Amino acid sequence: TKTLHIIGGGMAGSEAAWQAAQMGVPVVIHEMRPKVETFAHQTGNFGEMVCSNSFRSDDHEQNAVGLLHWEMRAAGGLIISTAYDHRLPAGGALAVDRDPFAESVTKALMDHPLISASYEEITELPDDGHWIIATGPLTSQGLGQAIANETGAESLAFFDAIAPIVYAESIDMSKAWMQSRYDKGETEEERKAYLNCPMDKDTYEAFIDALLAADKTEFHEGETAGYFDGCLPIEVMAERGRETLRHGPMKPVGLTNPHAPEEKAHAVVQLRRDNALGTLFNIVGFQTKMKYGAQIDVFRMIPGLENARFARLGGIHRNTFINSPTLLDAQMRLKSRPNIRFAGQITGVEGYVESASMGLLAGRMAAAEILGVELPVVPQDSAHGALVHHITGGAEAKTFQPMNVNFGLFRPLEEKVKGGRRGRKDRYKLYTDRAKAVWTEWLEQAPQKEAAE
Ligand code: FAD
Repeated sequence: TKTLHIIGGGMAGSEAAWQAAQMGVPVVIHEMRPKVETFAHQTGNFGEMVCSNSFRSDDHEQNAVGLLHWEMRAAGGLIISTAYDHRLPAGGALAVDRDPFAESVTKALMDHPLISASYEEITELPDDGHWIIATGPLTSQGLGQAIANETGAESLAFFDAIAPIVYAESIDMSKAWMQSRYDKGETEEERKAYLNCPMDKDTYEAFIDALLAADKTEFHEGETAGYFDGCLPIEVMAERGRETLRHGPMKPVGLTNPHAPEEKAHAVVQLRRDNALGTLFNIVGFQTKMKYGAQIDVFRMIPGLENARFARLGGIHRNTFINSPTLLDAQMRLKSRPNIRFAGQITGVEGYVESASMGLLAGRMAAAEILGVELPVVPQDSAHGALVHHITGGAEAKTFQPMNVNFGLFRPLEEKVKGGRRGRKDRYKLYTDRAKAVWTEWLEQAPQKEAAE
């Protein structure tokens, strides 16, 4: 009963195992590879990077993912320290020599006296004991089914359909306006829940041409097998007919542009608030498989978004994830079965680094619970705190889609900082300074192994 069981030895499961074992808790990692394969993994190693070999920006003063690196390092993270051990030259990014990296992660875990591995696929939700499910975007079908049975099918997705997310402050409000279609809603806030960007006919036609011409990515071989749920990318809608979007997500009806009340827009792009803070907006219905560079060029053709900055670009991938805002408590426990935590990409974060960081938190939380010691609340102003707060409460549950860490998830600063590029630099530095201070304090208060014994 004092053992922590972790399903999945990927980025999150490996980090969770390390953190819990370092706190003195015995851990068993249940991993289905190499017996059962996924379409993306190639080896039986723990911590395998399935695609790019980059942990993205390592800049911990100006970049939110670099800040996560810093915080994980301060917390004695296995994934991050092993990544630095196998770092490849890549400018400001943390690129990793993937095979030696995964071999070292595997060795470190297997050499730990408190960690063992059981190579098997788990297909049922465990009734008792302490468990973390960290089975990632390619969770096996059997376990996916067991999770869906518990949570309801509508709370588990097998694909993400990610619409791009824009920083609110980068939208030109001299062109855009807030209004819900037909002013629907009980409250003033609901009647102004959408942000609208109008298009005239020429802009619309040019936009459709650009969509059709843009570079796109394809699904990986095997990615859609047995799963495809027919969520259409906007460029596919445009291929079906030049007017399709104007009758779909870009319908101009029920909206009046206060900047030009006499003019009838030919099409309207709508954005919806993506977080409770109101710092992020997603472009409604704009899931896409356009390449990232093409997305920026095409979406900046939208009036009001000429200078838009993107917290996340769009995509559609095979990706198993749960509706964390409704299903998980702040301790990452399944509300309906608190002996089970979730960690990693299946909680609705996106990327190697974010997944490892959610493993770090889940491992520490589970270990504290097993040891019967109190873990202070993860500070919301840290990058870890901003991310876990987003998935377990801050995000809009209805439109929940996987999220990368970004400064839009952070609570606004108390200090006033000027706008523009210079001001943004100052602001990011203040965010990261604030995060480091609260994270360091949290680590100092965290239960130590000695204290726990
Ligand atoms: P994983 O690292 O996938 O680990 C989950 C583990 O659980 C796996 O080892 C799996 O074998 C195991 N498992 C699954 N089901 C069971 C079961 N029933 N029983 C036992 N074990 C099980 N992120 C990036 O940052 N950059 C990229 O370029 C990138 N490209 C990607 C490309 C593809 C095709 C995919 C699918 C994902 C990509 N990602 C990328 C996302 C990245 O893979 C994840 O963010 C990260 O690996 C998630 O960590 P995790 O621990 O949650 O899951």
